[in-house]
Amino acid sequence: MRIAMVSEHASPLATLGGEDAGGQNVHVAALAAALGRRGHQVRVYTRRDDPDLPRSVVFARGVRVVHVDAGPPEHVPKDDLLPHIPALADGIAADWRTWAPDVVHGHFWMSGVAALAAAKASSPSPVVLQTFHALGVVKRRHQGAADTSPPEREWLEPEVGRSADRVIATCSDEAFELKKLGVPQERISVIPCGVDVEHFQPDGPVAERSARPRVLVVGRMVPRKGVGTVIEALSMLDTDAELVIVGGGAPPGGSDPELDRLAGLAERFGVSDRVQLRGQLPQAELPPIYRSADVVVCAPWYEPFGIVPLEAMACGRPVVASGVGGLIDTVVHGRTGLHVPPRDAGAVADAIAELLADPARGARLGAAGRRRVVSGYAWERVAADTERAYAATMADAAAPDARSLEVRR
Ligand code: UDP
Repeated sequence: MRIAMVSEHASPLATLGGEDAGGQNVHVAALAAALGRRGHQVRVYTRRDDPDLPRSVVFARGVRVVHVDAGPPEHVPKDDLLPHIPALADGIAADWRTWAPDVVHGHFWMSGVAALAAAKASSPSPVVLQTFHALGVVKRRHQGAADTSPPEREWLEPEVGRSADRVIATCSDEAFELKKLGVPQERISVIPCGVDVEHFQPDGPVAERSARPRVLVVGRMVPRKGVGTVIEALSMLDTDAELVIVGGGAPPGGSDPELDRLAGLAERFGVSDRVQLRGQLPQAELPPIYRSADVVVCAPWYEPFGIVPLEAMACGRPVVASGVGGLIDTVVHGRTGLHVPPRDAGAVADAIAELLADPARGARLGAAGRRRVVSGYAWERVAADTERAYAATMADAAAPDARSLEVRR
């Protein structure tokens, strides 16, 4: 197949851990690469955010990243990108005049707007699949006035869901939300995000650590990731455990306001001497850090999917996770980790204490986590499921009255 992916703000080539660069970048990069390995031709269209970027870059076997001129060639926060989406759509449609795709797969709602517009302007028109990665309706529910999404998201996002030929939800919770937005159930497939199980694995170098029990948090440093809750939980533990926090736009002492806020919280809770803010680290450096942890904690208020717990499980670590969004599907309470309610520092502290008190149990949960991700979340498996969804959607488009059987897992 010729597969076009649109990922307006999240380039596979970006550095991860900054405010707008996380799971979606990983997802698009890994899925595109896995589809390329399966023999497909993939082009990933993303907005040019640097004047020096070449027009097109070979990213992996069969995969090119195409930089489209849409708005100023510099970083623009994703919530300010909507005015530039028509130019992105035009640029994509122009490329399709010499490279007509069978499928276009939008990632994030604005990419869906661009994908649908480019498909409409093209002949032959590819089928359109959409993965939202996050839903505005959920974000607004949890963030209220702090949500900086443009107001148009409220109606454009459901419109993308209803107009796409198929929507890929990454977890069952998202499938329920999509149904509530009016996306017909028969057009929703549930296919999770994946994890690189070769890169993230239990065996290998372990980062240097002290004799203190180590709790680890990895992620973009934004308030909804609940890192403040983990810092508070640390202050409630009877042990002298240390908390290593990886992520954030600037190194310790730098100017990332969220890291400054977290440092202030650690001060307030009297645990600054046990909290290490490491800043952003490349994926290559993460496995030894995961392996050095006794427990990995993901305590978001909400989480559309959450790749970090998969990385932790792939490295054989037990996970304490809020029982929200994708974490409900990925972390199995009592088998691969422990679920806690969101925004509940006491519950996080209890769960960490429970696991630290019984390292053999932690190891058992970690080993079960590894088995779970290898069987259900390796990118090859995710790519195979996605390929099936593409093929089923193309079959539906060819025979609209005989919608093919559901491809949901
Ligand atoms: N990440 C990274 N370096 C950092 C912080 C995060 O490589 O310093 C990666 C992390 O390993 C994971 C991704 O960013 O692959 C975060 O994905 P997740 O789905 O957990 O959260 P999102 O960023 O999508 O909200």
